[in-house]
Amino acid sequence: MPTKTALPPEISSQLQKHIRGQVLTDTPSRGRYATDASIYQQFPVGVVIPEDAADIETALAVAREHSIPVLPRGGGTSQCGQTTGVALVIDNSKAFRKILHVDPEKATAEVEPGLVLDHLNANLKKHGLWYPVDVSTGAQATIGGMAGNNSCGSRSLAYGNMVHNVLGIDAWLADGQLAQFGNYAQSTGSAKQLGDFVKGLANRLQPEIEAMFPKVMRRVAGYNLDVFHPQSEKPYTTDGSVNLAHLLVGSEGTLAYFKSLQLKLAPLPQHKVLGIVNFSSFYRAMDSAQHIVKLGPTAVELVDRTMIDLARHNPSFKKTIESALIDAAGPTPEAILLVEFSGEAHAPLLERVAALKELMSDLGLPNTVVSMPDAGLQKNLWEVRKAGLNIMMSLKGDGKPVSFIEDCAVPLENLADYTSALTDVFSKYGSRGTWYAHASVGTLHVRPILDMRRDGAQKMRAMAEEASELVRRYKGAYSGEHGDGLCRGEWISWQFGPKITDALREIKHAFDPDNLFNPGKIIDPPKMDDSSYFRFPPEYKIIPLKTNLDWSAWNVQNNPVTEETSAPGSGGDPAHGFSKAVEMCNNNGHCRKFDAGTMCPSYRVTRDEKHLTRGRANTLRLAVSGQLDAAPGEDPLTTAAVKDAMDLCVSCKACRRECPTGVDMAKMKVEYLSHYKKRHGHTLRDRLVAHLPHYAPMVSRIPGLPALLNIRNRIPAIAKIQEWLTGISAERTLPVWRSDTFWNAPIDSAASAAQYRFTPEQLQAESKAVVLLVDTFNAYFENENVHAAIAVLRSAGYQIHIPQMDTANSASATEQKCSKQFCCGRTYLAAGMVDEAKARLGALVDHLAPYAERGIAIVGLEPSCLFTLKDEALVMGFGQKAVSVSQKAQLLEEFLVDQSKAGKLNLNLKPADRAVLFHGHCHQKAFAAVTPALELLQLIPNAKPTLIESSCCGMAGSFGYEVEHISVSKQMAELSLLPAIRQAPDSWVVADGTSCRHQIHDGTQRDAVHIARILAAHLQ
Ligand SMILES: Cc1cc2nc3c(=O)[nH]c(=O)nc-3n(C[C@H](O)[C@H](O)[C@H](O)COP(=O)(O)OP(=O)(O)OC[C@H]3O[C@@H](n4cnc5c(N)ncnc54)[C@H](O)[C@@H]3O)c2cc1C
Ligand code: SF4
Ligand code: SF4
Repeated sequence: MPTKTALPPEISSQLQKHIRGQVLTDTPSRGRYATDASIYQQFPVGVVIPEDAADIETALAVAREHSIPVLPRGGGTSQCGQTTGVALVIDNSKAFRKILHVDPEKATAEVEPGLVLDHLNANLKKHGLWYPVDVSTGAQATIGGMAGNNSCGSRSLAYGNMVHNVLGIDAWLADGQLAQFGNYAQSTGSAKQLGDFVKGLANRLQPEIEAMFPKVMRRVAGYNLDVFHPQSEKPYTTDGSVNLAHLLVGSEGTLAYFKSLQLKLAPLPQHKVLGIVNFSSFYRAMDSAQHIVKLGPTAVELVDRTMIDLARHNPSFKKTIESALIDAAGPTPEAILLVEFSGEAHAPLLERVAALKELMSDLGLPNTVVSMPDAGLQKNLWEVRKAGLNIMMSLKGDGKPVSFIEDCAVPLENLADYTSALTDVFSKYGSRGTWYAHASVGTLHVRPILDMRRDGAQKMRAMAEEASELVRRYKGAYSGEHGDGLCRGEWISWQFGPKITDALREIKHAFDPDNLFNPGKIIDPPKMDDSSYFRFPPEYKIIPLKTNLDWSAWNVQNNPVTEETSAPGSGGDPAHGFSKAVEMCNNNGHCRKFDAGTMCPSYRVTRDEKHLTRGRANTLRLAVSGQLDAAPGEDPLTTAAVKDAMDLCVSCKACRRECPTGVDMAKMKVEYLSHYKKRHGHTLRDRLVAHLPHYAPMVSRIPGLPALLNIRNRIPAIAKIQEWLTGISAERTLPVWRSDTFWNAPIDSAASAAQYRFTPEQLQAESKAVVLLVDTFNAYFENENVHAAIAVLRSAGYQIHIPQMDTANSASATEQKCSKQFCCGRTYLAAGMVDEAKARLGALVDHLAPYAERGIAIVGLEPSCLFTLKDEALVMGFGQKAVSVSQKAQLLEEFLVDQSKAGKLNLNLKPADRAVLFHGHCHQKAFAAVTPALELLQLIPNAKPTLIESSCCGMAGSFGYEVEHISVSKQMAELSLLPAIRQAPDSWVVADGTSCRHQIHDGTQRDAVHIARILAAHLQ
């Protein structure tokens, strides 16, 4: 039974005194390490984040001295609960992650366990090598965790599992000794003794091993007692030798703590070709796999009809998925198999696809294969496969696709019968499974939808019992990829029988006599449906919460068969949908990726679980369910624990798009801030930031005041005083005030703003018309951008309406005098002033709706302002008006590219004389508006724009100005953005965000320009 007790203070002080890394024993930190990508939750007693091997050695010694169990952890992406435990968790992923050695000649590498697979492979690329266990969590899975679970990739048919690709492991044993596990014949010391012991057991049990070990390659349950009498269809070693490291692979942290791993690398395949087989019967697809593998493919992956349909209904994926279909206009096939061939030369691979076509004809399925030789198309198709799974995982409501029989492996000749029988089991229990993944090795993933807060546990047990019968009938392995953990531990004895189970216990005892390493996994596991281990046990309750944003879209329940969701607001959440939105995080750890995309910039800098989307979602979940020691009656969103976790969230909105389940932390931050500030009050800095749209007009109109305020940027002492008074960093320059703002100065020789004013009816009557939103930042600080946009639009023949307030609508008398400007409420949202934001944004939506309803595009320049119309405006209770506006709201580049594609854009542009670099604003990335920017820049002859592969610039509105955040802000910028700009000293740098331009200027002294400016500069 899990408890929530922390390490006694004297032990944590002892640890803290002797290690260089961090020791965390507070409830929120332990709570963030209480879950993995499973349905389970157990609070660790503490967390150590070591700096190096010496820290781990010390932590192990202290744990041993006090008989405290230890749980090694990598990315925490396990699906079965093996990374949860009442133990001292040691997180290798932050610092214990070096590549120690690569030998390109021998194609081997030695690495520390916290190294992420994709980071290793990025490094190996220059040698023409890779580590070929290509798990789909490669961007966040660590080599130690992969070895711990005996992980397997999509190409295991060609390369095998982890166990086939680990050559040696140096590991600390329970008594603190370091032992080298490798070739048995050459082993010495403790490793040899342990090896001899296991050999004795294996010899004694040889008949039992031969009878009970499944003969499939995908068997990862228990310990690999069969290293001495191999049973897998793929031998552990190529020369038949015994490698003792293979005993540790798959041991889930229960036998020893890996210090370093020696890996077998493979040459990077030079060419790949896909043959995609279309099936009108799922059964035939499954039945064909056994024949297809004989052609020697590197992968045979299944995508079923549900996933194909999901992709076909998604505009981003439709074209790609249909490129894989024999008849793109016809009905969706029941399944497709992606058959990949790879090798040194391209031509022979095409012959293999031809052989595949012939094979399918011979099987009575002629004309069912689409050949895809193009590498770009292949990459897109693999991405669609992954995205399909993501859409499935993003189902709203308490019923979720649950992993517990998701990776049973059966021999290929039985795959069709097995999947068909298991499908019947699902319908018997009122659920349904979507099938996907590794048809090549008989391991298909399937997750029936279960509601673990209600009858999920009972159904899970019943389905597992029936599935196990099928696995036995079809001579398969119950645990075929993701490991045992808590959900499959109890099935080990079922799989192997009592004698082997006893032998496994003896192995555990020989390695770890005091049961210190990850107890309760593999040996003596709990029942899979013991709800005291659940993340959502029956007693899980949400604290009632009055929300400021509308979360009703998450407050729903779903139908496990049709996946239809109930009406918004009907889900029964006492937090009106907020808690259900938070609970969407299933801990898959995708936000730990570093390679592509933006999510999660704060984690990329600190590598702390707390500063990760997952860490934030877990903190919020624990808070709203009363698991974070809040005082009775205290609003759970106002606690220090929540503030601490949300502090470095820069509201970049990347998670909204990149998190597979759509966790929208930026929106959650607005909700949290509004609660927090209501209780703790707003600071002077909050007010200065929030009310900028209000006072900017006044400042600009008072003669001499802009110049006076700008002195602050030139005299450090004044900046320092201001820092002391306001918390705005003296290290930052502030935007330069001016009196010739957009509203004060004429727009061009002929016109003032008043002349860009049309009723919706007037504008609709124009053949080319647009509403141009002028925001505070561009109006008061960089009005050249607005002028440039007007010049471009005018040159292309558009009539422009600029929203301007009727003075009668202004909020105050001063505003009436000074400002005609509407406000999107962004700065108020950033300060948690939701009511003020609503008032301003509501007025803007009211103004824009009649234009939007007449189909007129609403074009913006500043991404953070424009996308407020497409995002927060939809959760503020504005109704259909906001929906209409959001549908017509576009950045300038989106609008112009759409017009160009429709043949309506006539821009006469002269050639560029310099290269062009483009940096996308985070919100622009979150709303897929980067491609249009690049497409638009391509209209400039010779421009050849290059996208800077950057995460968030780090400025993030006011974040980068804040004295406590400036260091993190600069580190974010230095990750890739600023180095890329420094490397291209002669290029144009284009960035649409005002804060991005500011960060670029502060960091490189280069002036980045808005896209409108570069276009205007190239008008003929
Ligand atoms: C969406 C999704 C897709 C997935 N796809 C795949 C897939 O394609 N193939 C696959 O095989 N798995 C897959 N998994 C499961 C999981 O990602 C893999 O098992 C992964 O290799 C785990 O890596 P990790 O770093 O997160 O390990 P963790 O979960 O942190 O740890 C895994 C185990 O290793 C042990 N361990 C970690 N470090 C050490 C060490 N230094 N010494 C001893 N033991 C250690 C831990 O105690 C634990 O028992 C998937 C999971 C998700 C959520
Ligand atoms: S926040 Fe999203 S990406 Fe991160 S772990 Fe949760 S579900 Fe996965
Ligand atoms: S909004 Fe950005 S910084 Fe915040 S959690 Fe999401 S990805 Fe991370």
